[in-house]
Order: sequence, then structure tokens, then C-alpha cells
Amino acid sequence: MPIRPLGLDPETCLIGAHWQAPAAGHSLPLINPSDGTTLCNIAAGDADDIDAAVAAAQAAIQGDWGRSTAAERGRVLARIGQLVTAHADEMAELEARDVGKPLKQARADVTALARYMEFYAGAADKLHGETIPYLDGYTVYTLREPHGVTGHIIPWNYPMQIIGRSVGAALCTGNACVLKPAEEACLTALAFAELARRAGVPAGALNVVPGRGAEAGAALSAHPGVQHVSFTGSVATGRLIQASAARNVVPVTLELGGKSPQVVFDDADLEAALPFLVNAGIQNAGQTCSASSRILVHEGLYSQVVDQMAEKYRALRAGPAMDDLDVGPLVSARQKEIVTGFLSKGADLEMLAQGQIDPGAPEGGAYVAPTLFACSDPAHTLAQDEVFGPVQVIIPFRDEGHAVEIANGTDFGLVAACWTRDGSRQLRMAKRLRAGQVFLNNYGAGGGVELPFGGTGLSGHGREKGFEALYGFTTLKTVAAFHG
Ligand code: NAD
Repeated sequence: MPIRPLGLDPETCLIGAHWQAPAAGHSLPLINPSDGTTLCNIAAGDADDIDAAVAAAQAAIQGDWGRSTAAERGRVLARIGQLVTAHADEMAELEARDVGKPLKQARADVTALARYMEFYAGAADKLHGETIPYLDGYTVYTLREPHGVTGHIIPWNYPMQIIGRSVGAALCTGNACVLKPAEEACLTALAFAELARRAGVPAGALNVVPGRGAEAGAALSAHPGVQHVSFTGSVATGRLIQASAARNVVPVTLELGGKSPQVVFDDADLEAALPFLVNAGIQNAGQTCSASSRILVHEGLYSQVVDQMAEKYRALRAGPAMDDLDVGPLVSARQKEIVTGFLSKGADLEMLAQGQIDPGAPEGGAYVAPTLFACSDPAHTLAQDEVFGPVQVIIPFRDEGHAVEIANGTDFGLVAACWTRDGSRQLRMAKRLRAGQVFLNNYGAGGGVELPFGGTGLSGHGREKGFEALYGFTTLKTVAAFHG
């Protein structure tokens, strides 16, 4: 039976107060990556639906939502968080089936979504401007105001988490949102919008238009009625979005890819590091922008790390999302083809170990065995390009300078980690590593919704998550009053 998220017809868009079929009546099949069958059809919205959604968002800004107080918005966000938690099982199952991620990882995403709502609920009435000392006779202060209509174009790998961090912060600051989820996975975006509606988000303050990137996505990013675009996805699409935003002269936040290193020095606590070294590469089958796909190891510890990581890899099992193994399928047959292509490019490397695809995994699923390579050439394709699959390379280094050179030697700069017991080296490395987030003796800090997140270089620009996101979703107005 086709899936109905929270009882909704998945072939609809939320525009203003109503779930409605897209204007042209087109739909797209949503494929279950665990077995290749069709989960349901979803709406294929286009430029007409985006026009309608932007108009509904503009009306919300002119109406109650535009007049809402920060405390009222905080209460609405808190209610969304409570509803997400109340529907946690259904949300997790939707995400697992849709994205293909093991159920326990989908559950963690639900927890993160609820936590984003809780965080932004509490932050809503804490954001304020400043007074600025100026000339005699003046009082000067700043106001933080919403941009207006914000566009949110998100990928398929972490729909709930990315909605939490971007839509959560945009609603917190009083923007009205138009969300374009990915065509490969959009069920929790629909469910989230329905929960937001039930929680009291007024009509038009959150609209959802699923559809193809080149149609609904392109129409949203180019729409002159949109005052800010938050995009998470590939570098190629990010370039198009930035070009569209440039034409409208509106700000964009780009959360793109990565080739994030973990640097392991010979004084590292290897027992503590090991689970992070592996998990950061295989979580969500490696389809994580902040995946750690490069493990840089000091020569003195190299053979030990190789042996221990290889042992962990040999124990990994991939299988259907609902079987809740270590690794699920990739999101689609297309993604499997891309990752398999990368594995072929590693033919000249030493393959250290591979996990197993569960013998019971359905034929039609998009499974790839987690694979670990040794790579002494930091310029190799597998050490430079984002694979977006469960593939890691281990690269040896001589000393600190060499480690920094390799770590910073890609076009990306999203996340980096350093494992060492030497306190001075920790501080030096934190300064020298080129990344938006640096982790010392951990990786990912448990996801931390409070921690600003974003990249440098081809990883993008702008920051989401934490309080920093609230600056991105507002514009600053300076008021200078002369009173003599
Ligand atoms: P993608 O860029 O093709 O798609 C992402 C979103 O953009 C989807 O909603 C898609 O429909 C939309 N889109 C596609 N073409 C568009 C266009 N011309 N105009 C407007 N919107 C368009 O990305 P993908 O290939 O589906 O996702 C994988 C990539 O995303 C990976 O390379 C990964 O690096 C990146 N990613 C980054 C992050 C992050 O937080 N930095 C998170 C997830 C994925």
C-alpha cells in the first residue's frame, strides 16, 4: 500500500492553508532504495506552484505572521517540537524508508529535528539589536528584522535535520518559508509541514512544493519575490543558485560538499578515536556532507590504524533500512552508479578491507559494500573528490606541517578533526586547519544543534545552526535618532 505521511496525500503541495495537487497535475515516483520498489508518487510542482507558494508567503508576512511577536513564534516552534516527538516513530520510519538510512540513524534525526525546534523556540526572544554610542544629541540602535520570504532548497540525505536547522531558524526570526525538498526523498518534509500547521504556524508562513530541481528548484531560487535562499546540495547546483541570487541581489547560504579529514597523530588515544574514524565515514552510507572521507595518520601509528580500521570494516554489514544494520542502501540506483564508478577509480590503490552486503538484501536495492583504501598520493581522485558513499582512504603523513598541507590540500573546507594528546598542538591545528568546524579529539560533537555549521572554499558560505543562523536569516537596520 502506498505510504501516506501522517495521513496526507503525498501527491500534494502545501500552499497557504491547503494541501493541493500541483497546478499542472504532474507527479513523480518515489523509489524505496532498500528494494527498488515505488513507495508512492509525489507532487511534481513547477514554476506556477512556486509562484502560488511565494504569494502565500507574502500574504503571511502582510498578515498575522508578520505581526507575530518573538515570544509567540517561540511558542509555536516549541509546539512543533512536541508534535515531532509525539510522532517520532512514524517520522523515523518515513525517513528510513524514503532515504534508506538504518532506522536507528533515522531516529537520531527525529531527535535532532525536535531539538532544533526546542533550541529555536528558546532563541526567538533572545535575538536583539544593540545601542551604539555616537555623537552628542543622538541615540543610535540596531534592529534585527526578517528578510521576508525565504526559499529553502534541500537535498535527500538528511531532510529532517536540514529542515530543522534552516526552516527552524527562518521561522524563529519571522520569515515566511517556501521549502523545496529533494525529489529522491521528501516524505518527512511533508510530515513536518503538516505538524507545523497543526502546531499553529499560520497559513502561508510555511509552504512546501516538492518537484524536480530544474523546475521547482530553479523557479524558487530565481523568484524575485524571495529575499533569501538557503541551499544545501551539490557544488554544481550551488553555483546555479548563487547566479540566480546574484540576478535578484539577495543573500544565499550555500551548504555544499566536503572531503573532511581526521588527522591522527602518534600520541592519539587510538581506542577513543577508532569508532569516530570509521563511523564518520559510513554514517548514512557516507552520504553526509560532513562525512570524514580522509583519514590522515602519522607514519608511526599508520600500520596500527590500518589494521584496526580494516578489522572494523570487515565486520560492517549493509542491508535494508528497516533491518537496522550498520549501513543502508545508497539513496538511488543513480547514486550507486556514481559510487561504483569511484570504486573503479580506486583500482590502482590498495583495498584494505570491505564490509559485506547482507545476503538477504533485496536485489533491487542500491547497496554498496563499505570500502577502505590505503592511499599514499593525496592528489588521487579518491583523496580529492567527494564520493558521497561509504568509502574512506587512509593517507600517511610525516609531521605536523605535512599533515596540514594534506588536510588543507583540497578545494573543500567543511569539517576537520585532530586527534592528539598534545594541548599546544591541538590549538595550533585548530588554527591551521582550513574548515568551518574543527573537532579536537572527537568528530561531530554529537551533532550539536547549538554549533554554527558551514564551510569555506567549495564547501560553501554562510552559517546555519546555533545562534549564528539567526543573523543569517535577518537583516540589520540601524536607527539613528537626533534629539538634540
Ligand atoms: P543537488 O544539488 O542535485 O540537489 C539538491 C537540491 O537542489 C534538490 O532539492 C534538487 O532538486 C535541487 N536542485 C537541483 N537542481 C537545481 C537547480 N537547477 N536549481 C535549483 N534547485 C535545484 O544535490 P544532490 O546530488 O541531490 O545531493 C548530493 C550533493 O549534495 C553531494 O554532492 C553533497 O556534497 C551535497 N550535500 C551537502 C550538504 C551540506 O550540508 N553541505 C548536505 C547534503 C548534501
